[in-house]
Amino acid sequence: PDFNDPTSNFLKKEWINPAKDISLYQKTSRANAALVVLVRNSELHDIRSSMRQLEDRWNKKFNYPYVFLNDKEFTEEFKIKTSALTKGKTYYGLIPKEMWSYPDWINQTRAAEERRKMHEAQVIYGGSESYRHMCRFNSGFFFLHPLLLQFDYYWRLEPQVQFMCDIDYDPFLFMQKNKLIYGFTISLYEFQSTIPTLWKTVKNFIKEYPQFIPKDNIMNFISDDGGKEYNLCHFWSNFEIADLNFWRNTPYREFFNYLDKSGGFFYERWGDAPVHSIAIALFNQKSKVHFFNDIAYMHEPYLHCPIQPESHETGRCHCNPNKNIDFDFYSCNQKWFEIK
Ligand code: GDP
Ligand code: MN
Repeated sequence: PDFNDPTSNFLKKEWINPAKDISLYQKTSRANAALVVLVRNSELHDIRSSMRQLEDRWNKKFNYPYVFLNDKEFTEEFKIKTSALTKGKTYYGLIPKEMWSYPDWINQTRAAEERRKMHEAQVIYGGSESYRHMCRFNSGFFFLHPLLLQFDYYWRLEPQVQFMCDIDYDPFLFMQKNKLIYGFTISLYEFQSTIPTLWKTVKNFIKEYPQFIPKDNIMNFISDDGGKEYNLCHFWSNFEIADLNFWRNTPYREFFNYLDKSGGFFYERWGDAPVHSIAIALFNQKSKVHFFNDIAYMHEPYLHCPIQPESHETGRCHCNPNKNIDFDFYSCNQKWFEIK
């Protein structure tokens, strides 16, 4: 195009300064997506720190909205001090009771007894009741929250995480253009003691619903023996960039309901990370999952930091590549690289 030609289409107002006609710009250049933040009022300062880094590194150029969710009402202070950090729209939602309570088939006396035992056995979060509601909400409900129904993609954000590279493109549009379902940065081995009967339940589901399981799925990421045993690999779900409609569609709804009926969210301590990861691997081909190597991400105690020198020589990143977890023995990323 000739930028000096006054009749050129490229000199139309929206090309010179797209922000002048903001509605056009937003409609044509952004995905239908939001940042999703499940958080407590007491974590205000830790979520502000996460937001500020994500804004500085990325969202100040895109202004995607945030959806904050909580099982209690957000305080005015929380709303003011989080909204102040972004030009994006901010929504604050209370989680409906049905999404954060015991279903009627759960024996709460048994659930309390199992919590006591897991606490004594020093299982991580084993004694916590709220952690179980949180994991079940993240597994089965966040994508059905009324504030999220309008969106197609989400990026999950937690308090006290760090982003250590500039992100100069729109990962949501990247997901959309490449028809991706799920994006991750870190993958790990789960603690077996939190999920004693999860894999047995998954295998029963596979037997009952073979129509949902494509032959060329990603079973080899989650099992080393063709599905007999779970190898405990899971995408670390405190970071997720993913397609909301995957969770809303029938296969995953059936899967979640099946797991939920078995009671493992309460009698054991099933995390949303293994639940999400197993579903992603069972129902998808590997081309639907993306490893965001270029997004440096820290959630204590693990860091993903790109090891390619150019990420650091250009000044794009400030993380320490020697502390990158990808090649440590407790990371499953190596398995992912082999599969890909
Ligand atoms: P961890 O990452 O597994 O150690 O668990 P976190 O404590 O970070 O909790 C995971 C996410 O759920 C974070 O975004 C928390 O803010 C959120 N969360 C955990 N428990 C609760 C809760 O009881 N209420 C609310 N509103 N959010 C919670
Ligand atoms: Mn966390």
